[in-house]
Amino acid sequence: KLFNEIQELRGNIRVYCRIRPFLPGQREKRTIVEYIGENGELVVANPSKPGKEGNRLFKFNKVFGPAATQAEVFSDTQPLIRSVLDGYNVCIFAYGQTGSGKTHTMSGPSGATKENWGVNYRALNDLFSISQSRRSSIMYEIGVQMVEIYNEQVRDLLSSDVSFVSLDLHTLGILTHTQPNGLAVPDASMHSVKSISDVTDYMEIGLKNRAVGATALNDRSSRSHSVVTIHVRGLDLKTGSALHGNLHLVDLAGSERVDRSEVVGDRLKEAQHINKSLSALGDVIFALAQKSSHVPYRNSKLTQVLQSSLGGQAKTLMFVQLNPDVVSYSESLSTLKFAERVS
Ligand code: ADP
Ligand code: MG
Repeated sequence: KLFNEIQELRGNIRVYCRIRPFLPGQREKRTIVEYIGENGELVVANPSKPGKEGNRLFKFNKVFGPAATQAEVFSDTQPLIRSVLDGYNVCIFAYGQTGSGKTHTMSGPSGATKENWGVNYRALNDLFSISQSRRSSIMYEIGVQMVEIYNEQVRDLLSSDVSFVSLDLHTLGILTHTQPNGLAVPDASMHSVKSISDVTDYMEIGLKNRAVGATALNDRSSRSHSVVTIHVRGLDLKTGSALHGNLHLVDLAGSERVDRSEVVGDRLKEAQHINKSLSALGDVIFALAQKSSHVPYRNSKLTQVLQSSLGGQAKTLMFVQLNPDVVSYSESLSTLKFAERVS
């Protein structure tokens, strides 16, 4: 109920901030976090302006501090996930510089156990357990797609062909206008899943394929967006009515500013594509938050792929990820400013 009230006010957009803990190897642990409030307040301190003068207040729907567990983070996300079973489209994404915990929040550490599962495994686990129990008159089918967006090209990560067919989104505008619940990426392979182990199998394949594409470039994952799309189809056996909801789970490319004087060639091109798509995403969410009549979906592949779950009746949740270290202060500040604009 509370969530619905917030929705009315915010046009279906929620923003959570998550601050990761210091990592075991870090010796000097100086944090920019000054204060975390119960009601989504976050005060960060400017390390070069000691005292209250350098403090800045930001306001979110919620702030998760370094001690927050994966389970705690998920419990606030769960209502959104459940609404997918009612036919809503939902988009959850993690924004922040490389190393700020995006993948940790969305997937968990590599080889995560159930305890460390991130949002995507928990979401699917939830979708399975609810769809199989409570709403017994509705029969559900769940399908998964996984794509990567790199340099404005969309690649299927679950295709058996590891040469990565680039997917053509030309028909997408038409598709999403005439069928609001249509497939976001019509050509990406869709895989039916019946249990959480099916899902973990596919995620593993997807991650492997992502690594294959990395070739000479190291850590490709921080320079591409990965999008897991979960399609839920429900058929009510009593009334014969059908519903279709989808859930996009997005691990965005690192938002760090790349110094233009230091990079050339491929690295520069990557950086430009990342900047372009992240600012296009910011513009779309900003337009939605303002309830603007024009939402500029077409400015990037990322926003085109996510279009069905941004705007309209769809619900959007952004995790704003922060590294607490003073060394990252200026990146953290630009992350916070991005978030401030859309919340
Ligand atoms: P990103 O995907 O934004 O580049 P990662 O999710 O890979 O960042 O996180 C960077 C490192 O910090 C990883 O070693 C990860 O396991 C660790 N980490 C991130 N968030 C947390 C957290 N909440 N608790 C414990 N470790 C975390
Ligand atoms: Mg990552």
